[in-house]
Formats: sequence, structure tokens, C-alpha cells
Amino acid sequence: MPQPGSGKKLVAGWFSFSCCEDSTIMMTELLNDHYAEWLPQIDFRYAKVLRQDRPPGPMDVAFVEGAITSATQEKQVKEIRRLAKKVVAIGSCACTGMPSGSRNVFDEKTRQEIKFLIERFNMGEKVKKLEDVIPVDAKVPGCPMNTDAFLKTVQAALQEFKSANNA
Ligand code: SF4
Repeated sequence: MPQPGSGKKLVAGWFSFSCCEDSTIMMTELLNDHYAEWLPQIDFRYAKVLRQDRPPGPMDVAFVEGAITSATQEKQVKEIRRLAKKVVAIGSCACTGMPSGSRNVFDEKTRQEIKFLIERFNMGEKVKKLEDVIPVDAKVPGCPMNTDAFLKTVQAALQEFKSANNA
């Protein structure tokens, strides 16, 4: 089992795959109200939107936004799963594959029209939801994510973390 950080703060990551990143915007908006409360409790160690990008390392919780659209992304998300004790799917694209996966239901003519793009960007045959690639521990639905559900998930992760550290 990975050993994230000093044990004093919940080590978290925020990762975006194929999507519009609106849940990232929601999360940063939430910092307006929750920054002071979270700062002593959460170390957002792997979150490109908040700090210098760095390769992911061991963490307590990984929040993953977006659908998975290529073999490269599958490899990246499997590495995140290996490093994280808990993985949370963020937003409809990660939870269900849609709306990022709209091309999965295109008719044959449209599929032929976009074929060059799929090939140019080395994309997979089908767009996948997160759970199609790795086991997921929790989901925050919504497009963008439901912020109340996200806050409850953060609280639950903090609670679990405190219980584990006091055990
Ligand atoms: S769930 Fe909606 S808001 Fe979130 S990335 Fe997908 S399209 Fe954007």
C-alpha cells in the first residue's frame, strides 16, 4: 500500500482527461469559500491547475475528471489507480463517459468523417468512462460536477483519513 506524505495532511491529486474541465473550474471556485479550512488538512500535491505540474506519486485520494479516450490515457489512469488509495470519478464524463463520449453514438457517415482526427490523435475506437478502465471508489455526478456531492466526498475522505491516522 502506498504511504502518502507525512500522515498529517490528506494527500490529494486532481487529474483531467478528455473533457471541458468545467469541474476543475468548479473546484477552484470552491476554494474561494474553503481554502482556509482545507489548507491545514489537504495537500493538493498533484493538481496542475493549482501548482507546478509534477508526475503523480503516492496519494490518499485521486479526483479524476473526464472520459478516457486513448491507450495513453488508459496507461496514465492505471498509474494513478496504482498510486492512490481512493479514486473518485468527477463529473458525468468520468462517471458515464458522456457527453465527452458522444462520438460513440455517431452514425457510420459521421464516423467516417471524423476518422482522420481519431487517427491523428491516436484515439481509441470507443470513448470510455473511468470505471471501464479502473475500479472507482466513489462518484460525483453532474455536468459539471454537483458541488454539494463533491464537498460531501471531500468530507468523507478527510474523515476516513483521520480515523485511519488515529487508529
Ligand atoms: S461532465 Fe460536463 S462539465 Fe464535466 S467535463 Fe464533462 S462535459 Fe465538461
